[in-house]
Amino acid sequence: MIILKIGGSILTNKDSTESEIDGESLGRIAREIKASLDRSDKQLIIVHGAGSFGHPPASEYRIGEAFEKSEYPQKRIGFCKTQNAVKKLNMLICEAFIEEGLPVVAIPASSFMTATEKRITEGNLEFFKKYLEKGFIPVIYGDVVLDSQLEICVISGDQLIQYLAVNLSPDRVILGTDVDGVYNKNPKTHDDAIFFDRFSSLEDLDTLEGTTNVDVTGGMVGKIKELLYLADLGIESKIINAEVKDNIFKVLEDEDVKGTVISRGN
Ligand code: ADP
Repeated sequence: MIILKIGGSILTNKDSTESEIDGESLGRIAREIKASLDRSDKQLIIVHGAGSFGHPPASEYRIGEAFEKSEYPQKRIGFCKTQNAVKKLNMLICEAFIEEGLPVVAIPASSFMTATEKRITEGNLEFFKKYLEKGFIPVIYGDVVLDSQLEICVISGDQLIQYLAVNLSPDRVILGTDVDGVYNKNPKTHDDAIFFDRFSSLEDLDTLEGTTNVDVTGGMVGKIKELLYLADLGIESKIINAEVKDNIFKVLEDEDVKGTVISRGN
């Protein structure tokens, strides 16, 4: 089984102030996945991020921060707005995938997972297994869930990857994003960033300034942390650039693709 994440950075137009899907990338990626499945049968789970759909309502309503009881009505609305926004994105993605003949079935985290202090602590994956057995492609995505400490919180696609990988023991874990992999610093803002073929420790990053500031990291540090946790359990993962044509097809075919393998040791 392969767990494939497609980053929100690929599927939505980040620069747009509106929630806007990147239809061109989406169609191309759907065709690449289909071409690979046509070549040989594979069990596949797809995870996608929330991109420009989920972040605005989640940050406007500060979902995941502690709050007073009196704020609950507002928080609930924020939860609902975020859930609905990511559901819309998921619907557009599933529509494009079905159009290309991919048998995708959405399994939203908000409908069966719960968290404690923003970490998933409950989520029965039997449905995933059943759908996989029947030849479907389960799709799950960054979402809001109930939290036993904080009442509600946001769960990223990267945390979902980690949870699924720990509990389903996939053969491969692949993350498609909008850069070639991990560098010692953000390659979008540093021309001299050095690329890693393999990555095994956060200490290899030039700065850790990004650990708490999403704007600085663009999410990469959070991603790496989840993947290093998997590496500790002996589960290797690979980050590749899904904006490069045919990369998704090639990686699904286990062909050589530039990217960063996250593993402990060498
Ligand atoms: P996605 O939405 O695809 O999951 P993110 O936007 O969350 O991806 O993270 C990818 C972004 O992380 C890249 O576009 C890049 O600008 C940024 N980034 C920050 N630091 C690094 C780094 N050290 N190596 C690679 N990318 C980095």
